[in-house]
Amino acid sequence: MIRIDILSVVPELLDSPLNHSIIKRAKEGNLTEIFIHDIRDYGKGKYRQVDDYGFGGDAGMIMMIEPVYKIISKLKNEREYDEIIYMSPDGELLTQGIANRLSCLKNIIILCGHYKGIDHRIREHLITSEISIGNYVLSGGEIPAAVLVDSIVRLIPGALGDETSALSDSFQDEILAPPIYTRPAEFNGWKVPDVLLSGNPKLIKEWQEVQSFERTHKLRPDLLKEKDGKGNI
Ligand code: SAH
Repeated sequence: MIRIDILSVVPELLDSPLNHSIIKRAKEGNLTEIFIHDIRDYGKGKYRQVDDYGFGGDAGMIMMIEPVYKIISKLKNEREYDEIIYMSPDGELLTQGIANRLSCLKNIIILCGHYKGIDHRIREHLITSEISIGNYVLSGGEIPAAVLVDSIVRLIPGALGDETSALSDSFQDEILAPPIYTRPAEFNGWKVPDVLLSGNPKLIKEWQEVQSFERTHKLRPDLLKEKDGKGNI
């Protein structure tokens, strides 16, 4: 069971992506617990203020440290956290390897930034790792957090219908997945490769391995280079 606490100033953005399909099933099967916290509940005054103008005069509002400090302290008093992650475009690029590692943890906090970002002292003193979902800038950390949570939760044993199915996904072995087909065996004259209809598991597995290798070679040769470290494939 992995517990994930997500901190956000726009928690509504997380409603839909975390309440359907595999994540919903994982929650119902007690494989994960996901709590979404509204940072505004920890904001100051009548307007529950969570952002303010930046020192230095640059345009844009910045998330304040106090509300975030309060909520993280409260959670840390309740249990120990393995990681307190900030979603950030300048963080470490999310990979299948990171998702694998995080899926083995017990308690994690994910902080979503918004506006211009967060007071840097949060990053210096409260955050244990920073993750980016790609080299582009989004309006908030909520969609990146949903991406991260999805990548983690589907790796928890039992989350996917067939437990081995995550193992054959792309990137799991630094190799892309082979092509997949379903019925009908022929559509518009377009046929499924004969070998898949052969009923011979050994031949099918060999074919899939060759396809995986060829697709990786063609589409993502960088993965194969990473594999042996020498640039040989
Ligand atoms: N001024 C910041 C960007 C702020 S975008 C900068 O130049 O780096 C607002 C928030 O969206 C960020 O605080 C972060 O939480 C989130 N965000 C935006 N792009 C992201 C990405 N590629 N990966 C992860 N989080 C991202």
